[in-house]
Amino acid sequence: MRKELRREKIKCQCGEWTEPKEFSVNGFKMRGSECPACGETYFNPEDANQALIYNKLKNETLTGKIAKSGNSMVVRLPKRLVDALNLTAGSTVTLRLEDPRTVKIIV
Ligand SMILES: [Zn+2]
Repeated sequence: MRKELRREKIKCQCGEWTEPKEFSVNGFKMRGSECPACGETYFNPEDANQALIYNKLKNETLTGKIAKSGNSMVVRLPKRLVDALNLTAGSTVTLRLEDPRTVKIIV
């Protein structure tokens, strides 16, 4: 499905057909297409919505809860964050201790 959308050409408002293109908006990759004639850009609605959710959360302070799971500790992440980053259970993330009170999670 992702591939089909990327190849999709859209009839531009100027009458020309757009060319599929991948955009990077504030570090966020978005599928879309661009008109070779007038330069108008069209974003994939799914990706645009994801970018909106991401932007809303960007500088917000969220809380997670530490829980015990067997011999490990797990951090429960708020659903909004999970949705914004498209995280799935079982996926691997990178953790980096930045200072004694900051752990960076790289997805
Ligand atoms: Zn156009």
